[in-house]
Amino acid sequence: MLLKRQQGKCAFCGLYFRQEDLREQDHIWPRAYGGVASLANLQLRHRHCHDRKTALDSLQRLGGTDDNSQAIEEPGEGATFTPGSEDEPAR
Ligand SMILES: [Zn+2]
Repeated sequence: MLLKRQQGKCAFCGLYFRQEDLREQDHIWPRAYGGVASLANLQLRHRHCHDRKTALDSLQRLGGTDDNSQAIEEPGEGATFTPGSEDEPAR
């Protein structure tokens, strides 16, 4: 049993599983990389730890977020406010 092998601890954060924690089985070696579908290749981790790992993976996959700010507006072009137009003396 995986839980026994890991002494009741999460393979990711090392904290003990609690009764209310959601657990997930995870392949240590992904099967895409030749990992075998055996108990030796499985580990238990928290559900939220698994989420965090995948979130980290996707972050790294993005490879640095360069936010090119496209909010450069050029002022002055086509200014609709013309001062003085309201200054005409009422006749
Ligand atoms: Zn955990």
